Amino acid sequence: MDLQLHGKTAFVSGSTQGIGFAIAQSLLKEGANVIINGRSESKLAEAVQRLQESAASGASVSGVAADFSKADEVNALLAKLPDIDILVNNAGIFEPKAFTDISDEEWFRFFEVNVLSGVRLARHFFPKMIAKDWGRIIFISSESGVNIPEEMIHYGTTKTAQLAVSRGLAELTKGTNVTVNTVMPGPTKSEGVADFVKQLGEANNMSAEQAEKDFFKNARPTSLLQRFASVEEIANLVTYVASPLSSGTNGSALKVDGGVAKFII
Ligand code: NAD
Repeated sequence: MDLQLHGKTAFVSGSTQGIGFAIAQSLLKEGANVIINGRSESKLAEAVQRLQESAASGASVSGVAADFSKADEVNALLAKLPDIDILVNNAGIFEPKAFTDISDEEWFRFFEVNVLSGVRLARHFFPKMIAKDWGRIIFISSESGVNIPEEMIHYGTTKTAQLAVSRGLAELTKGTNVTVNTVMPGPTKSEGVADFVKQLGEANNMSAEQAEKDFFKNARPTSLLQRFASVEEIANLVTYVASPLSSGTNGSALKVDGGVAKFII
């Protein structure tokens, strides 16, 4: 299947590792020009170099650093970015923490990185996409946005907020060729999650392998996959949604969660 992504330009936030990196890689393989992002210049340069090997003929990759917890860095990023066709709001943070230990500052930080990152980028690019009558905005939320994890309620809340922003924005696309959708991954083996499982294991005196088994047995018992998804499995769906071929899908929340969320639609 030709996903018709040659010549399109995409920006993927938080893409030096994990799901964002896999999305950038997949878009590049399909011929899109991709701009990646992370906080550190050195990590960004290293990721750009690794991604160059994946680029289809004619596709290019570059990077712009910005920390989404800092509004001035986001403004500087927006000033540097060219016109884009595809915006993937992937940057996100997560950390298990007891509800009573989550301070106001942490609530605000989670909202700034997980929600306002996408809001600020979409506020800049959405009108431009409407003006040229083509665009794709994809929010990377989580099944945790509908199954709020008791061990990180702040995280789940930000993921629900992304669903609301995405659907609200999609309402403004009526009659155009711009689409706004959300992809909801389930437990996925990114670098961030490997650290998370290690932390869970350490807290419970288990090896990372035992902690993974325990996680599916006790924390995510409804998983049909009964394993972490690979980052590539998430990127496959995102790449399709980014493609002109997905024109019939708008205002949707699409699960790629291995069946964890136990509802049909
Ligand atoms: P990860 O921690 O492996 O990677 C996160 C990326 O975001 C990194 O490139 C990091 O540099 C970047 N980042 C973090 N904070 C940033 C900031 N302040 N400014 C700029 N960049 C920043 O994470 P991941 O597991 O690949 O998660 C990516 C997205 O997928 C997140 O939005 C996450 O909520 C979502 N998600 C992940 C899972 C999972 O199980 N891995 C499940 C559901 C949803």
